[in-house]
Amino acid sequence: MRRKLRADAEGINNQKSINIRKGIIIMVEFSQLKKAVVNAAENSPFYKSMYSGIDVNAVNSFEDFGKLPFSDKYELRNAYPLGIQAVPDEKIVRIHSSSGTTGKPIIIPYTAKDVEDWAVMFARCYEFCGINSLDRIQITPGYGLWTAGIGFQAGCEKLGAMAIPVGPGNTEKQLELMVDLKSTVITATSSYALLLAEEVKKRGLKSQICLKKGVIGSERWGDLMRERISNELSIELYDIYGLTEIYGPGIGIDCDKHEGIHYWDDYLYFEIIDPVTGEILPDGETGELVITTYKKEGAPLIRYRTHDLTRKIPHVCSCGRGFPMIDRILGRTDDMIKVKGVNIYPGQIENTLSAVGGVSSEYQVIIGHENGKDKLTLRVETTADSDNAEVAFRVVDVFKKKIGIKISCECVDLGTLPRFEKKSKRVFDNRFE
Ligand code: ZN
Repeated sequence: MRRKLRADAEGINNQKSINIRKGIIIMVEFSQLKKAVVNAAENSPFYKSMYSGIDVNAVNSFEDFGKLPFSDKYELRNAYPLGIQAVPDEKIVRIHSSSGTTGKPIIIPYTAKDVEDWAVMFARCYEFCGINSLDRIQITPGYGLWTAGIGFQAGCEKLGAMAIPVGPGNTEKQLELMVDLKSTVITATSSYALLLAEEVKKRGLKSQICLKKGVIGSERWGDLMRERISNELSIELYDIYGLTEIYGPGIGIDCDKHEGIHYWDDYLYFEIIDPVTGEILPDGETGELVITTYKKEGAPLIRYRTHDLTRKIPHVCSCGRGFPMIDRILGRTDDMIKVKGVNIYPGQIENTLSAVGGVSSEYQVIIGHENGKDKLTLRVETTADSDNAEVAFRVVDVFKKKIGIKISCECVDLGTLPRFEKKSKRVFDNRFE
């Protein structure tokens, strides 16, 4: 429906992208997008240089817009420290910064309005998961240069709930405050939420805590981990999405229906592209998320590549709110592998395995050649009570149905595959050796 309406609207040349919200058709006018492009080209030294030789005033349709070059974190690093800034210094009230694990970090300047807009979006996130002004929100993500902690807090205060700004680590204090102050919401990365859940269990505190909901951000996490956190703490979990360059966390979240992550299309324009060719993909197909900001003043971003893999969900959520949705993040483009002409992401493999059952969360992907063709072998650990032959058969079958290629599956006993403290190595591509 949405795509058809959009096509019709483009056909009559008034260039409007359409969403349906609470039964009302919301027209996202092309003029809003054009205004963002022209502003960036005129005021941000980063975009001024990127668009030199391009007449942005001649960008008059979504199609023209789709031909503008992408921007990327690699180029933004070259604009260090403040080459992205699009307003005079006196309007900037704060900066945040990406982690910068390799090379210089990216610095993002914010105006007072950017800070306010972010808080409004974040408060909306809390509302979407049923959190209200009576809730007590324990905030465990970090404060400082990183955007996380302060975003969770600003949204909480905007909503009128009570923030308990503990910050990261200090598990003793976290548990003490959680019990004494009767926190109802925990906000955390998935790994820290799991650690807290295990501690609550170990210390027998479950009957003393009042948590109802968990707002989890910043990492890709599988269903198995989700179930463990949710069961150990008896809470409902919500996925919050965001990245430092685009405000921070809080630009999207799932609702009680958990059909996808709603995103705020009154602030942001989302495209999904083929990460290799850059072509825009139709709604429903998986690719890389590219974001344009409509209202960001300090550091506007146009066609910014997130390197996150997802898809637009081509239906309206049954909650009826009508803000469009993307799927949970499937992984990073850097982790993508191409086998038999099909792009495969680690998140898809994990989804396949959780659909099969009888396996642990550990697996390896081995890619090689056989008779001149790609061959993918999935090595999985089975749980103690599983029949290896039966599991292997189901893995091959589900993989074929979900991802579309024939693979081999090798089952090994639980505990055979290596465990990783930090980043796990699961893919072994031997084709180019
Ligand atoms: Zn919904």
